[in-house]
Amino acid sequence: MPMDYAAQVCTLIEAGHAFYARGWVPATSGNFSARVDDERVAITVSGRHKGKLTPDDIMLVDMAGNSLTAARKPSAETALHLSLYRHDPSTQAVLHTHSPLATTLSLLLKDALSLRDYEVLKAFPGIDTHEYEIVVPIFANDQDIDRLAATVEHYVDYHLDSYGYLIAGHGFYTWGNSVEDACRHVEAFEFLFECEMLKRRMTQ
Ligand SMILES: [Zn+2]
Repeated sequence: MPMDYAAQVCTLIEAGHAFYARGWVPATSGNFSARVDDERVAITVSGRHKGKLTPDDIMLVDMAGNSLTAARKPSAETALHLSLYRHDPSTQAVLHTHSPLATTLSLLLKDALSLRDYEVLKAFPGIDTHEYEIVVPIFANDQDIDRLAATVEHYVDYHLDSYGYLIAGHGFYTWGNSVEDACRHVEAFEFLFECEMLKRRMTQ
């Protein structure tokens, strides 16, 4: 169902302000998007400060990543957002942050982060027990975003229970069936990243 563009813009701006306040999108990093309809996505303009987002910092692109807003260039990572919308028509929002915990864990670990036995796993759709394991894959960083997007698309096509992924030394992506759902996933992942880091510190 087509979403109201103004409403989507509003929720993306709120996410930017909240995430910046928590240190998850420093120094203009990160990017956010929301599906408007089958052909269009609202996405943050390249290089804008997420703690100071205004409606002017959100623009429209088509599903091939072409700008539909005059004189605006979309985020350099737009292809990573679009691959997730193409993968699942029910995905309504994609959020990407560069938090210290996501970035550090992605460098400490190889291949994947396993999250199991946490009550907060119930923040993710389809999970109603702590007796569950989420595997968060870690992809090598790549300045060739189209190539990275193809790698991600291939992974999620074969792992239908994916909720997010890390990019080594870079940050993480998660998504949801609304901007609010995707924000809840960011919060849940950040909490889990913190628990995993604490566990590692305390068992050293
Ligand atoms: Zn990034």
